[in-house]
Amino acid sequence: MATNGEAQPAKHQEVGHKSLLQSDALYQYILETSVYPREPESMKELREVTAKHPWNLMTTSADEGQFLNLLLKLINAKNTMEIGVYTGYSLLSTALALPEDGKILALDINRENYEIGLPIIEKAGVAHKIDFREGPALPLLDQMVDDVKFHGSFDFIFVDADKDNYLNYHKRLIDLVKIGGVIGYDNTLWNGSLVAPADAPLRKYVRYYRDFVLELNKALAADSRVEICQLPVGDGITLCRRIY
Ligand code: SAM
Ligand code: CA
Repeated sequence: MATNGEAQPAKHQEVGHKSLLQSDALYQYILETSVYPREPESMKELREVTAKHPWNLMTTSADEGQFLNLLLKLINAKNTMEIGVYTGYSLLSTALALPEDGKILALDINRENYEIGLPIIEKAGVAHKIDFREGPALPLLDQMVDDVKFHGSFDFIFVDADKDNYLNYHKRLIDLVKIGGVIGYDNTLWNGSLVAPADAPLRKYVRYYRDFVLELNKALAADSRVEICQLPVGDGITLCRRIY
């Protein structure tokens, strides 16, 4: 639709509604038809244990867990990193996808929550793939960037932690992921708040992080070092494939 003589980009509805996020009922349909029936028993157990935890809002959704698991197999990932573990749902979906000698460097400032999921991860027989480090991710990433042996060493990195640091992480991770490897930034649709009017009632933390997510999305779209794809899975995940 042209308003001031200039051609405006078409709204997606005008070229056919292609978003899957049309209704809760459709989402529930996906979960019940394609996700829950194929969810490994250990992931189901961890999902149910996590649901009882007061911060359960933070967990990765089952459809996103399924997506990560398949993606890791598709790219034959072996050496991976996760920033933001919580009780370990995405970590377990990663660990199950990796080969026996696969590795996950798992970073979180909170070990207590990781220990909620750990017995289930151990029972699933994949704990040996995980190297959990308690503490803020940024200083550890700095140490790794200073050591060339880590450069280009990761096949996949999943970032699901403090959104105000994502761009700081990106500056470092771009050196640590291998060329052809993938970084996944989670929650890049940030509850739909990115397109909410300025006066919309938003929860305090949603409002606080919104500008950081907006800035991240712009920066990733402008970063020629990566090919990107922002997927409406879970709360939005942007995949970045390092080109050079
Ligand atoms: N991927 C997890 C899952 O599947 O359940 C969810 C992660 S949760 C959304 C975010 C996590 O990031 C929390 O466990 C929090 O402790 C951790 N976190 C926050 N700031 C961090 C930091 N600076 N470094 C490392 N982890 C951090
Ligand atoms: Ca997340």
